[in-house]
Parts: sequence; C-alpha cells; structure tokens
Amino acid sequence: MTSFLLPCGCGADIPVTSSQAGGQATCPACGREEQVPRLRDLGKLRVATAPREKGEAGAGQRWTGMHALVLAGSLLAAAAGLLSVSFTPPEVNLYDDDTIKSSVMRAPTDEVYTAWATRLSHASVDRPPTEMEAKSMARSDYYHTLRDRLRAAAALGALLASVGVVGLLSKRKVDGR
Ligand SMILES: [Zn+2]
Repeated sequence: MTSFLLPCGCGADIPVTSSQAGGQATCPACGREEQVPRLRDLGKLRVATAPREKGEAGAGQRWTGMHALVLAGSLLAAAAGLLSVSFTPPEVNLYDDDTIKSSVMRAPTDEVYTAWATRLSHASVDRPPTEMEAKSMARSDYYHTLRDRLRAAAALGALLASVGVVGLLSKRKVDGR
C-alpha cells in the first residue's frame, strides 16, 4: 500500500495510508495528532518512498533476529524431540537372576523352604546393590536423565520458536503492510 507523507507542525513527516484518510494520524516525532486529508486530497501529499532500512534493495522480508529465533528454536525442538524418542531408557535390572538361582541352589532346602513359606516378605531387608545392579541403576539413571534433558531442550526450542513467531506477527501488524 502506498504511504503518503503528511507534514506535521513540528517539521517531521507522518507516514499515512489511504486507510487513514479522513482520520487522525499520530506524529512519530512529536506525538501530536494530525488530521489526515480525505481520500481525494491524499494524492496532493508527497508519496513516501518505501522505508528500506540501510538502503537494502528489494527484499520484502528482511532476515531479522526473530527469523533466526524461529529457525533456531524449530531446529532445536525437532532435533531434541527426535533424539528423545529415539531410545528407551533401560529399566533397572534389580534381579540378577543367575545370582539368585545359584544362591537358592546352594542354600539348604529348609532355608529355601522357610524363605518361600514366608513369601520372601522381607521388603525392609537392606543390602548394598550388587555390582551388576549398581551398573544397571547407573545406566538407567543416565538414559532417563538424558531423555529428560532432551525433552527440556525440545520444549525450550518450541518456546523460542513460538516467541519468534509471535514477534514476527506483531512486527507485521505494526508495519501494517
Ligand atoms: Zn510532529
């Protein structure tokens, strides 16, 4: 849309468009409200040359920080999201089957019977984890933590991308063209 330059009393020009014809426009320099001429008189105003910053030619859309934010955020969300679903953290293997079997085989039958008869109800028994169990726990913890971090990174990426999109949309609204 063509912009016209409405001279303000302060000497600055107020860019106005035909949609503002007959209405009010606020001077960007002094903040004063100026009356915009009616549509048929708009043509008498000077036509604003499109405000290309730093003399950049053409390019309707400039590459801005918001674009970079959207791209970076999207990439981060996609990459971290994909990675986080690319593996399943191993469950902790608390029972070393071979150890259990061999210890049962070695134990006197009456002890095994007693243990079995009392339904192995010694949940409060405290023993240090076997080496294999400790490794299993550490491995499981590692992958769970890794997956949590990847999910957090994906969420952060999505958030950044959203912020960028909102920024781009609101900037477009302010530009009004
Ligand atoms: Zn002014």
